[in-house]
Amino acid sequence: MIAEQLQEVRQEIQNACHRSNRNPEEVTLIAVSKTKPVSMIEEAIAAGQTVFGENKVQELCSKYEVLPQNLHWHLIGHLQRNKVKYIADKAELIHSVDSLRLAETINQEGEKHDRTVPILIEVNVAGEESKFGVSVEDTLSLVTEISKLPYVSIQGLMTIAPYVENPEENRPIFRKLKQLSVDIKRKNINNVYMDILSMGMTNDYQVAVEEGATMVRVGTGIFGERDYSKTI
Ligand SMILES: *Cc1c(COP(=O)(O)O)cnc(C)c1O
Repeated sequence: MIAEQLQEVRQEIQNACHRSNRNPEEVTLIAVSKTKPVSMIEEAIAAGQTVFGENKVQELCSKYEVLPQNLHWHLIGHLQRNKVKYIADKAELIHSVDSLRLAETINQEGEKHDRTVPILIEVNVAGEESKFGVSVEDTLSLVTEISKLPYVSIQGLMTIAPYVENPEENRPIFRKLKQLSVDIKRKNINNVYMDILSMGMTNDYQVAVEEGATMVRVGTGIFGERDYSKTI
């Protein structure tokens, strides 16, 4: 079941790449395993998946402990500063940095581990009040400030698009994030690499790939609906 869904998502990514003249190797599929048990992650691993996304620090850490060491864990959800210490050495990429204060804490923890922590800047492209993320207008100045921190390296941008019935509605949002990353890349800021664009979820990842996503975060499309009434 999970193997088939994974295969289908991979195929859709390939199709979207062909439609937009992109190389499918440029796109990393992050299997979002939040709320899902280890047994389901093991099924995905058996189907060749090694990159997983979690949105809670504690859940990432407990899965990290029990699963094989050769996996790649991405923290995709909002991060509180007091939890940074638990994941600074575990998360391969933190997708959700939206303030200088948070980046400073990551920098301190990175220094402790002698590890430069790769991060993305989360941008609230749609300007939804309920969402985390820096505004499009403030992104360049935040990137410039964070770029001065030696134990943090900005690899690109991330956005969470609104839930919409028709994924086409999110195309302008993905296009805007892509344009923002091109604009920032042109500034050639030291310690800033605009190589990663993390955008697209189950509902809209095909459109996101067509608009230049290099990472898509797919949960439901691989593992099925989440049941938040059960805790793991
Ligand atoms: C849960 C989550 C996803 C995956 O959402 P699906 O709609 O299940 O694919 C992607 N990104 C973030 C930040 C999430 O929290």
